[in-house]
Amino acid sequence: MEALQAVIEARKLLENITPLKTDCGRYCGGACCQSDEDGQGGMLLFPEEEKLYTPLPAGFALTQDDAVLPGAWLLTCDGACNRADRPLSCRLFPLLPTAKGCRMDRRGWAVCPLMDHGKAGLNPAFTAAVIQAGRLLYDCPEHAAFLSAIHAYNERLKQF
Ligand code: SF4
Ligand code: SF4
Repeated sequence: MEALQAVIEARKLLENITPLKTDCGRYCGGACCQSDEDGQGGMLLFPEEEKLYTPLPAGFALTQDDAVLPGAWLLTCDGACNRADRPLSCRLFPLLPTAKGCRMDRRGWAVCPLMDHGKAGLNPAFTAAVIQAGRLLYDCPEHAAFLSAIHAYNERLKQF
């Protein structure tokens, strides 16, 4: 499957499934949707996902960001969005697919109260959907390379 199709399919798998059976944003005030202390925020798009943001829906901005992977696109938002516009990174959070399943996304420690409970605390249907999405993504070299760069970045985070 080519990269754009894979990201579309992965997004579909996570269209209506959320980390908890209830709205987890009620427990944290939607912490992962708020910008950080510097007013910075945003989420990296998976390869080719930027094509789904032309034209750019209201409230979003798109810039290139080399912090994790050269040439990656960073989508920033104003803290609210339609579910259909939600990027794959947001749909997966606080999990991250691995080649053999999924793990908690280390970047979540800064914001997400679900991190304390680990995978056991998440909606099993959500975990299953992330694993299924990961299978699609790891079948595609561009997405496999992107995920590998994110995991490497998270490993560097561990050192701080
Ligand atoms: S920070 Fe965690 S608990 Fe809060 S809305 Fe985001 S995923 Fe849900
Ligand atoms: S795109 Fe939507 S889900 Fe993602 S951080 Fe912004 S408001 Fe939250």
